[in-house]
Amino acid sequence: PPPRHASPRSIRQEVSVALNRSTGSSGTRDHDSPDDKSKWECVRKGVCCICCESNIDSLLYRCGHMCTCSNCANDLHRSGRKCPMCQAPVVEVIRAYSIL
Ligand SMILES: [Zn+2]
Ligand SMILES: [Zn+2]
Repeated sequence: PPPRHASPRSIRQEVSVALNRSTGSSGTRDHDSPDDKSKWECVRKGVCCICCESNIDSLLYRCGHMCTCSNCANDLHRSGRKCPMCQAPVVEVIRAYSIL
């Protein structure tokens, strides 16, 4: 995996461009939110979509999204920010335990 420290945004963009090229899907063009896409990439790998380092281990109430580690979730909650996936207010952070 590419290093995630330096300038993650541009690296990720290059990666996604390369991925798009290799799959050769030139038909559909729904890239209106590339940032959203990279969030989902992390979440799909089970990694926090905010810090992209820790494993996802918390659930955002009320939307129920599991997309952050407990650190970032508590950070969102404390600072009154919204769910990074759907922009719903984070009313509560629930610690989640994966059984996988
Ligand atoms: Zn995190
Ligand atoms: Zn959400």
